[in-house]
Amino acid sequence: GEMSPDALERLLRERVDAHRAVARKGKLATYIPALGDADPLHLGVAVCLADGRIVAAGDADVPFTLQSVSKVPALLLALMDRGPDTVFQHVGMEPTSEPFDSILKLELRDPAKPLNPMINAGAIAVTWLVAGETAEARIARLLSFVRRLCGNDAVAINERVYRSEWETGDRNRALAYFMRAIGALPREADVEEVLAVYFQQCAIEVTCADLARMGAVLAFDGVAPWSGEQLVPREVVRIARALMVTCGLYNESGRFAVQAGIPAKSGVSGAVLAAVPKRVGLGVYGPALDDKGNSVAGLSLLTDLAGVLRLSLF
Ligand code: GLU
Repeated sequence: GEMSPDALERLLRERVDAHRAVARKGKLATYIPALGDADPLHLGVAVCLADGRIVAAGDADVPFTLQSVSKVPALLLALMDRGPDTVFQHVGMEPTSEPFDSILKLELRDPAKPLNPMINAGAIAVTWLVAGETAEARIARLLSFVRRLCGNDAVAINERVYRSEWETGDRNRALAYFMRAIGALPREADVEEVLAVYFQQCAIEVTCADLARMGAVLAFDGVAPWSGEQLVPREVVRIARALMVTCGLYNESGRFAVQAGIPAKSGVSGAVLAAVPKRVGLGVYGPALDDKGNSVAGLSLLTDLAGVLRLSLF
């Protein structure tokens, strides 16, 4: 059986304290200037239990933006809108050994298709697949979907982070235009609009508890444990969890699968979303990143918890 919420809270507090020093090995993601304002030594964790209760420790109340964690809700929504066949005509399902923002494999590949939905190129293609007549309609649908997954109507876009990435996102802009040039985005796609939606979804601001609830929806096959409502079809959740295991931590996904064994998705804000099927959802925040762009203290904390709580799928 699971440990009591009180015992879990003590464990989380103790483990957060033990992993704080690890953050000193990492660096903030300053390529998006607004992310450089974070406190690199923050570390927080929240766990959402099978009954929807939240147990949290450390700097769990500090807000942060989803960044690449938004690739998971965007994929869920695109799969619900278009179905898996259509989505995987536009994006692959294979992991990559290249960094998250790489353009390299796109040029080598025939047919032109980004490798998976968890790298930037693939996520931009997925964002384009989210239904909506206009960019405003797409981001509004994505935001309201994220609010439902987080069980929190107050979740909103951090406009400062959005503007900061809009102004400096040359690499993603290059990726998206390159994708249109090779047919990975259709001719009729308005690249600036797709980017506006993508940058805004990345700038959705949450806390560890919000992420833990999103993780719990993924852990419990699409059902929100706090309401019993089926928010996402089971089959769609299964696809997302598989891609989180194989691709969720970029070119560090293999190591994390071996050492922790939990479906997870990171973002360059230091966010980590994790879902342990039939057990718990987790949200972790630690903005200092390793050289792959993953939260350095966040991953070491999660790996530790996976061992102590026996969370590995494998
Ligand atoms: N908005 C970030 C980017 O596109 C997300 C990347 C990430 O979190 O890994 O560069």
